[in-house]
Amino acid sequence: MQAMTCYRLGMLNQLTITITDDETGDECEHKVPGMWAICSHCEGNGASSAYLGAFTQSERAEWDPEEWQGYMAGRYDRRCSACNGSGKVLVPDTQDAATAELVATWEAQEQRRAEWDAEDAAVYRMESGGY
Ligand SMILES: [Zn+2]
Repeated sequence: MQAMTCYRLGMLNQLTITITDDETGDECEHKVPGMWAICSHCEGNGASSAYLGAFTQSERAEWDPEEWQGYMAGRYDRRCSACNGSGKVLVPDTQDAATAELVATWEAQEQRRAEWDAEDAAVYRMESGGY
């Protein structure tokens, strides 16, 4: 059996993506160059009150004006879990063709996994009574 060759780049902003070989099930970690992007969850704020959800007009009317001011001032913001409060996330920089190919493979794999997970969840719901 031949060992898989992994890319090892000495980049400062690099991130690791794990690609599983469909045939052997071997996992190979690839270091790919990364670039910083604004976090789409908190839009770069690092904190968000999105967990509270959106308010309807009548719900908003129930708020105490002082509480509402606090809300607007970010008093109820929580640290964004997607970027750990930094407001930015490292995403693969796919300018390089080899990296773009790796990332495309990885994204397709992640997509498949997400579909499997969704199927598993659906089966689980069916088995536990269904709804
Ligand atoms: Zn964020």
